[in-house]
Amino acid sequence: MEQMDRAEGAILGQAVGDMLGVPFEFANHTFTSLEGAELKGGGLGNYAPGEWSDDTQMMLYIARVSANGSDLTSGDCLDQIAAGFLSWYTDGVFTDIGNQTRVLLAELAGDDGLPGLSARMRQAAFDLHARTGRTAGNGALMRNAIIGLTRLGDPLATAASARAVAELTHADPLAAESCIIHAEIIRRSVLGRGWVIEDIVDLLAEDRRGFWIEALAMGDESVSSSRERFLASPTNPDDGFTVITLTKALVALAHGLRSQTPMTTTISTAIAMSNDTDTVAAVAGSLVGAHLGASAIATNWVAALNGLPVDPATGARLTADDLRTLARATAVNGLADSRTSDH
Ligand SMILES: [Mg+2]
Repeated sequence: MEQMDRAEGAILGQAVGDMLGVPFEFANHTFTSLEGAELKGGGLGNYAPGEWSDDTQMMLYIARVSANGSDLTSGDCLDQIAAGFLSWYTDGVFTDIGNQTRVLLAELAGDDGLPGLSARMRQAAFDLHARTGRTAGNGALMRNAIIGLTRLGDPLATAASARAVAELTHADPLAAESCIIHAEIIRRSVLGRGWVIEDIVDLLAEDRRGFWIEALAMGDESVSSSRERFLASPTNPDDGFTVITLTKALVALAHGLRSQTPMTTTISTAIAMSNDTDTVAAVAGSLVGAHLGASAIATNWVAALNGLPVDPATGARLTADDLRTLARATAVNGLADSRTSDH
């Protein structure tokens, strides 16, 4: 029961952080407190009160596939996720979109769909990286929380899924690596296990571990507090960089867990130190939600939640109940599947 509460917490935490960060994105409003923030809406996508943004919208296309417990590294699943992302773009579900994701999905807009769409999307992402050399935006990390629930008993399978889904749109290895670290922290948190970054990075290639330990440096209080000061500047222009997004989310989490009000403090710290407030708060919200569980999230925030894409069966906007259902199904069906596999 506690593990299911934390699984739901990862996804509700993501959506709540996203929704609370929306009004303050790129200094639309100056952030002072979270009081009433769920009722502001607005932001770059002119969202309704309580509405989550593109971050959680994109995550839900992954969740629709992960909910049946299937292996997200398989070509069929990746095709379904890619088709979801593309329909999000071509059907005009989105009202705001990251630059890199926009370029990529615009290129694929004429694609006639399955099968093989995921391979074409991944190729377009690699081509974009070859042209620009800069594709480590936070657009993969912002939708990654659900991956942490897909194989709760299997860190290698979780990491492989995080990489496969990230690489659909983001060819820079930093994007996939940030997603692997994020998913593994969520996985361990849901299981009720502690973690240190030095262990988490074992899931990366050996020559990539040092970079991430230094970048995140959460184990070292002195490094952590100087980093906190550096990152706390809301004018820091690098929020969109996946490494900085993850670092800020972890700083916010560490700050929150030291406080008397960990959920509120994590999310408000994430917003206060960011420009890309909804994404940093979504990532931080997923981490603290996985740690504390859905039952620790303020009921007025959960009640306010709403967003797209609509339920294909009813045409209704999704709510917190739908997020809970998808989180639970992903966690339970993934466990059932990994028990019957070779891992
Ligand atoms: Mg957003």
